[in-house]
Amino acid sequence: DQDPRIHGIQTKIRVVPDFPREGIMFQDITTLLLDPKAFKDTIDLFVERYKGKNISVVAGIEARGFIFGPPIALAIGAKFVPLRKPKKLPGEVIKEEYVLEYGSDCLEMHVGAVSAGERALVVDDLIATGGTLRAAMNLLERAGAEVVECACVIELPDLKGRERLNGKPLYVLVESH
Ligand code: AMP
Repeated sequence: DQDPRIHGIQTKIRVVPDFPREGIMFQDITTLLLDPKAFKDTIDLFVERYKGKNISVVAGIEARGFIFGPPIALAIGAKFVPLRKPKKLPGEVIKEEYVLEYGSDCLEMHVGAVSAGERALVVDDLIATGGTLRAAMNLLERAGAEVVECACVIELPDLKGRERLNGKPLYVLVESH
């Protein structure tokens, strides 16, 4: 049985065909953010899941992981660590490159942001192929952290991104086919 809040969240996500290019069904969470009840329900569902789980780090992926990650971190008493696109973080970084449908991309994390043995949650808005979450997990594990779970608002299950997470659990609120 699904939590009654999930349906409300799902209805607030706008699907924009052919953005940013033909063939992509873009899942737009900005319409979810416009609805305070649905936005709060989204954060609350994650907080209810992760409170009391001894998570000391919430790592959010640029850019939309920066919207959902910080309120979760504050509510569960964890620090927030931004995982950013190249050349944005000013300090010393470690980086992970990953392959996209066309070309490649990269995520960076500040050295010293996370310590060995910390328990981490990775947050993004959406999992498609799983390449982005996989790169994020690699960064945290290279710093010696334990990735407890990855959390996204939306999963595109047809792309089987879950299978790229090395058996790590993935928690999502909404599936889109
Ligand atoms: P992937 O690495 O293939 O799992 O892609 C996930 C990343 O790309 C996330 O940061 C998403 O915000 C973004 N993304 C990929 N596909 C979509 C989509 N259909 N709608 C919105 N965002 C997407």
